[in-house]
Order: sequence, then structure tokens, then C-alpha cells
Amino acid sequence: MKREQGASPAQDAANNTESASLLDGLIVEGSRGQYRVETAAGALLCTIRGRLRKELAYGRGDEGRRGVRRVKVKAHDPVTVGDRVRVLPTGGGLGVIEAVLAGGSAISRRDPDKGGGTLRSVAGIDQLVAVFAAREPEPHLGLLDRFLVLAESEEITALVCINKADLGIAPPLAVRLDLYARLGYPVVRCSAAHGDGIDRLRTRLAGHVSAFVGASGVGKSSLLNAVEPGLGLRVSSVSGVTNKGMHTTTGTRLVPLGGPAGGYIADTAGIRAFALDGAGIERLDWCFPEFRPSLGRCPHADCTHRHEPACAVREALAAGAVDDQRYRSYLRLYAEGVGSVT
Ligand code: GDP
Ligand code: ZN
Repeated sequence: MKREQGASPAQDAANNTESASLLDGLIVEGSRGQYRVETAAGALLCTIRGRLRKELAYGRGDEGRRGVRRVKVKAHDPVTVGDRVRVLPTGGGLGVIEAVLAGGSAISRRDPDKGGGTLRSVAGIDQLVAVFAAREPEPHLGLLDRFLVLAESEEITALVCINKADLGIAPPLAVRLDLYARLGYPVVRCSAAHGDGIDRLRTRLAGHVSAFVGASGVGKSSLLNAVEPGLGLRVSSVSGVTNKGMHTTTGTRLVPLGGPAGGYIADTAGIRAFALDGAGIERLDWCFPEFRPSLGRCPHADCTHRHEPACAVREALAAGAVDDQRYRSYLRLYAEGVGSVT
């Protein structure tokens, strides 16, 4: 989104003199007027320029009815974790947010008609890492389908990570994993305990804002620590802790990864609940990529793909182009009311 500054010539001149010392950064934590911004020169504790706050809160007056509805959200907090911003360092680790960079404020990307936030809008998350153990606990792939539906709905990358590969991947699980790979979801088999596959995981995380989701005990914190010592602890220390001097009400924080390509791990507090709740998922059928060739080809315009005669999805199922367990996941999520189909 292009964001006009609406600045007077005098302000422009002032901006130009300041611009030499302006830094680009990412809001990794904070809300309600105080934000931690990661920049190339380190983290700065920032406030937001009053002019910018007003501009974001009241818009430019040409957004119609939607603009009016957005005001309420932005007036509450004009920028949020995951926003890319330009800051003016003011010394002593402090700074002022002067502008929101291309991509706009995450809040303005939130569709007011959908209500609530999305992973992207909550923290700029662009990758979901669904973690399962090869065993202990036994993997529950119904849960994986749920995570994948969430990722599809948000149009973010999804990665299937099978940890504890050292315990052995049973042949039936291996068959299921091949299916997911064919559907286009990369599958990384690894062992946090032995280090196998951790390089591949690290490569996948570089340059992304990733959220790890998965049942407790599958090894999420062990994996993060294997990727980078101390990372698991840094991520888990977020939950319930209010950082000194920060009014963190959102509970969302981005933890920077080391390495030249950068990248962040999003604190997962609340994300699993978000996935399980399924709120905000619009087209459940579209969230199953293998259904897509059939969509629009059912005789019933509002086909739910459950019992309608000559349903193209069910024909694909009968022909083996759609996997039976995946279809059952669809039925289960449909029955739960996750997303609307029509
Ligand atoms: P989390 O709840 O998902 O964060 O899981 P943890 O990282 O706390 O790990 C849960 C348990 O699994 C711990 O006892 C770990 O030592 C163990 N664990 C983690 N990764 C591996 C692995 O790759 N192989 C084996 N065998 N055990 C692991
Ligand atoms: Zn159908």
C-alpha cells in the first residue's frame, strides 16, 4: 500500500535533513505507543511521531466507508508488531517512528469485514511450521490438516516438520508424509536431539517470519534451540511476561534469528488457539489445494461436497485424485463449522 505523507514543504525539508540518520526497521514488540524496533544498528525503544499517528488513525479521507471503520482500530494502535517502519534514533537506545514502509501497517492490511486479526496481520507471519514428532507423542495428522487449512486461508507458506526422526518414521507415516509433499507442502524430517535435518530447517526459516505450531512435547523448543542456542528459551520467555518498560498487551513478539539472511520466530502464544478456533477461514474447500481443480465444476452452485449428486470433488475422491483421509478432514472441519464453503 502506498502511504502518502501529506507533509508540508517545510516538513519535507526537515525530513530531508533528518533522513541521513533515519533507519529502517521492524517492530518486533510493543503496543499502545511504545514499540521495540529492530534495526541494522540494534534494537530501539520507540514512540511514534504524533503527525504519523494522526495520519494513520484518520486516514486520508478517500477510503470511503471502510476507512471510517478502520479508524476505530487504528486510533487504538496505529502500528503493530510486524510493521516495517522508518525510525529516527534519538540516542540512548531510543527513537521515534517516522514512517510506515511499503506494505503498510499490518493493521491496515486487516480486512475489517472479516473481523479479528489474521496471522499475517497479527505479526506479519508469513510461514507456519507445523511440528509433529515421529512418535512420542504419536502424530495426529487431522491436526496437521487443520494447521494447513489455516495457512492456506491466510495464503502463507506451510512447512511440515517431523521431529524425533531418530525414533524412526513408521512406514504408514512415511506414506502420509509423501502425500503432503505431493500436495506441495515441504516436509522436513529432523531430530533436535541428534541434529539431523536441522540445517534444512534453518534454511527454510531464513528470511521468513515463522510461527511454530504443534502439540506440547513434540519438541518445538528443542528444535528452536537446535537451530540457534537459546532461541527456544527466548521465544518461550515471552508468554505471560511483560517486558520492562513495555506495555505489551498483544502478547505477540518477534524473536530475531541469527545468520546473514535474518528472519524471525513469532511467539506462538495464542496462535494454536487461533488455528483450532478456525475463525476467519473463508472458503474451506479452497483451503484443500487438491480440491481446487474440481471447484466450480459441481452441478450445484452451492455444493458443500458432502452429499450432492455428481459433485466434482467426490468424483475426484472416487477416482483417487483426492485422498480419503484428507477428504475426511474436510468433512470434520465442515461439521465443526470451520469456514464457510459458500
Ligand atoms: P515442546 O513442548 O514442543 O516445546 O517440546 P520440548 O522441546 O520441550 O521436547 C519435549 C521432549 O521431547 C523433551 O523431553 C525433549 O528432550 C524430547 N525431544 C525433543 N526433540 C527430540 C528429538 O529429536 N528426539 C528425541 N528422541 N527426543 C526429543
Ligand atoms: Zn461439490
